[in-house]
Amino acid sequence: MAPDLTRRLREEAVVRIIAHVDELTALDQAIGDGDHGFNMKRGFEAITALGDELDALSLGPALQKAGMTLVMKVGGASGPLYGSFLMAMGKAMTGDPLSREDFVGSLAEGVAAVKMRGKSEAGAKTMLDVLVPVLDAVTADDPLAAARQAARDGLEATRNMKATKGRASFLGERSIGHLDPGARSSALLVEVVCDVLEGKV
Ligand SMILES: [Mg+2]
Repeated sequence: MAPDLTRRLREEAVVRIIAHVDELTALDQAIGDGDHGFNMKRGFEAITALGDELDALSLGPALQKAGMTLVMKVGGASGPLYGSFLMAMGKAMTGDPLSREDFVGSLAEGVAAVKMRGKSEAGAKTMLDVLVPVLDAVTADDPLAAARQAARDGLEATRNMKATKGRASFLGERSIGHLDPGARSSALLVEVVCDVLEGKV
């Protein structure tokens, strides 16, 4: 593993989230309570504030610590869901050096944790509509290209879904026609991971 992988992921994630706060806010205003942009910004700024303490850790322990930080600092549904995701991923990431199988296995644990925490599956217009297809995609020959495409397609598919989980489900049919904000932030973070692993940022 590149020694600065934790730092690069942390730095790029917060940059990307901040660049898209207004977009996430607008999406959540359409079908939720409008706090998703703020919550994500607050959470990733709290992760950034860990700085050197986080960067000194290898990826597994760093993800666990980042996840715990999200659970503690972020309200709404996104803190506990993203927090559970990162904690479960980090806990499962035990290989040294990390292999592709380690990444895929830990992503599977993260997705399972989100399903359990949210009592949900793909198809309910949530972050799982990005994460589940991405998990399926990473076993492809070109896992990063497949993950990018799966994230884009999964996000777009939420537009015509009726929300059956979370606050958006109160809108029923009126949730149709809008992208899901949690799926949008998940797609954003998938892009961050792909860009960092490909050395694009
Ligand atoms: Mg909200």
